[in-house]
Amino acid sequence: AESTAAPRRWYRRLSLTTWIFIALVLGILAGLGLQGAPEVAETYVKPLGTIFLNLIKMIVVPLVLFSIIAGVVSLQDVRKVGAIGGKTILLYLATTACAVTLGLVFANVMNVGAGYSLDSGELAYEAQAAPSLIDTIVGIFPSNFFQPMADATMLQVIVIAVVFGFGIIAAGPKARVVVDFVEAMSEVCIQIMRGILLVAPIGVFGLIAPVIAANGPDVLLPLAWLVAVAYVAMACQITVVYSALVKALARRSPLGFLRGELPVIGFAFASASSVGSLPLNMECAEKMGVSKEVYSFVLPLGATINMDGTAIYQGVCAIFIAQVFGVELTLGQQLTVVLTSVLASIGTAGVPGSGMIMLAMVLQSVGLPVEGVALVAGVDRILDMARTTVNVTGDAAVAQCVDALQRRAAARRARRAA
Ligand code: ASP
Repeated sequence: AESTAAPRRWYRRLSLTTWIFIALVLGILAGLGLQGAPEVAETYVKPLGTIFLNLIKMIVVPLVLFSIIAGVVSLQDVRKVGAIGGKTILLYLATTACAVTLGLVFANVMNVGAGYSLDSGELAYEAQAAPSLIDTIVGIFPSNFFQPMADATMLQVIVIAVVFGFGIIAAGPKARVVVDFVEAMSEVCIQIMRGILLVAPIGVFGLIAPVIAANGPDVLLPLAWLVAVAYVAMACQITVVYSALVKALARRSPLGFLRGELPVIGFAFASASSVGSLPLNMECAEKMGVSKEVYSFVLPLGATINMDGTAIYQGVCAIFIAQVFGVELTLGQQLTVVLTSVLASIGTAGVPGSGMIMLAMVLQSVGLPVEGVALVAGVDRILDMARTTVNVTGDAAVAQCVDALQRRAAARRARRAA
């Protein structure tokens, strides 16, 4: 509850969450209204969203860099970094594997490709080469300190941050001034980010209206079943998998968790960017009582590698494309889809549309025509909004669990010491 001492301005009477949702609804309505003239939405409304996203992109690199360095330094002993890192990565992999499996099951059971008649003239997608597994791993390690920050290649930024964190610990007292600087910078970035988030509702409006205006019913209808199946599987991931996880490991009410996460859910849906949603996700984690040392490590990592919604999307699309092209995928091939989707989702960047590029890698792994990507491209944004929502909710759920596990481990240690 906020203090009521100062008179509150009219716009402050509603919380940021409420404003984000009002903006979402208004943006959808405006988009529907502008369906006849999508170029108007593109020219006059989209810039609001673009400015907002630019501000977020500007702050996200220093925010991640300094908060992870500060996080590693604050953990001091290497074992603790390892403990948090190990739990996080294990949970990320497990939830992502669950996600692809869910996607495959729903796609098979709901017969996702049914009723789609293929007009092969429509297929005009220039496949971009998806990176191989080895290239992906090699690509994590930067050869330059500044390049990853300029390009916002988040995984490389994280590696730099972790390496510097360990360097500072190793340097001991000599690095005192660096520790102070990093802590101060991380606080400064958080304050800047809070300021930017205050205008999030305007950004949300500017992001969603042009999307709705451009993706009218004409684009949507032929692929409605694909969208429906993907949405059902994704809803299931949130309401079943994350809820069970939060209940079992974090021992908190799933509903309470989802309520706390609502602003991020609304924001991710509108922006279709995990990285863009990261600042708000950190803010909500803090409000829900997750310790800073956990969320400042778990969430940036998750926004970069944990993409459960994207994994579901890849599973559903693989089956869809197979069915449309009349290819029967064997169980072994479906397992290959699980494996490559997990890897592809890890390699997917947390920005709009990148999941679709990685879909090519999944299709190739089981010999499906890469042109299939063209089939789903028309509704990609609609799917992207949902998969990003799942992506960020998964990060938050894991942050809750790791935090609870750490607290219980600390309590056990304290009991044993007593
Ligand atoms: N847009 C998604 C995200 O940022 C990634 C994707 O395209 O699947 O989480």
